[in-house]
Amino acid sequence: MFGVLPLASGQVYCYASAPALAGVRHDDEAAELKQRFGRWHDPIPGLIGAISPDRVLHDDVYWIAEPLPAYHRGRVAILGDAAHAMTPHLGQGACQAIEDAVVLASVAGPGTAAETAPGNGAEPGIGTAPDLAAYTSARRPRTRMVASGSYRATRLSGMTSPAAIALRNTGIRLAGRLAPSLMLRQMDPLASWTPPL
Ligand SMILES: Cc1cc2nc3c(=O)[nH]c(=O)nc-3n(C[C@H](O)[C@H](O)[C@H](O)COP(=O)(O)OP(=O)(O)OC[C@H]3O[C@@H](n4cnc5c(N)ncnc54)[C@H](O)[C@@H]3O)c2cc1C
Repeated sequence: MFGVLPLASGQVYCYASAPALAGVRHDDEAAELKQRFGRWHDPIPGLIGAISPDRVLHDDVYWIAEPLPAYHRGRVAILGDAAHAMTPHLGQGACQAIEDAVVLASVAGPGTAAETAPGNGAEPGIGTAPDLAAYTSARRPRTRMVASGSYRATRLSGMTSPAAIALRNTGIRLAGRLAPSLMLRQMDPLASWTPPL
């Protein structure tokens, strides 16, 4: 998979992923990119040619395959990748971390002015214990749904058998032509989240 995102000031962010052995690194990662993707369609060869080698980051992708039973224990809660590291192919890991933070803030509450005001003799802090079970209940099903979708996208994009790739590409091309709105609606569950009041 090769992705291209134009940024401000004429800069371009590119990402690429491919099945590879964990831990293997190359002396010249830009040359490795060229070798793997340099014969793909435009504008990929040109973009790879313009990359300065010191700007290439090469990491292995890890994800939590077996969902955690909860995102809290006692008075401790976790969020983001610590709770539900997922494959990056839906571009949702950081989005879900932000949603976690919003929900966690809503169950934690704002504290009270009397508790946090300086000089009142009280230690600053949160008044009542936050309902962390409510946080887990709100976030676990959604993040599991997103992580599963992301994993399906990873499997789809990481196919290596030519027959499977041809079938996938034909299916996506046909669906895009015959039912474009249906294709777009696949993203509705990701985009339709609303923060708690
Ligand atoms: C190639 C790729 C593309 C991606 N694209 C997208 C995208 O388009 N959209 C999207 O929403 N998400 C994307 N993601 C996912 C996103 O990057 C992560 O989900 C997100 O960064 C998780 O945020 P986090 O704060 O939970 O964890 P992290 O970003 O991992 O932050 C944790 C921080 O804690 C620090 N830390 C760890 N241990 C300690 C310690 N003991 N003491 C102090 N500090 C510590 C780490 O150094 C790190 O800085 C992508 C991921 C990858 C790999």
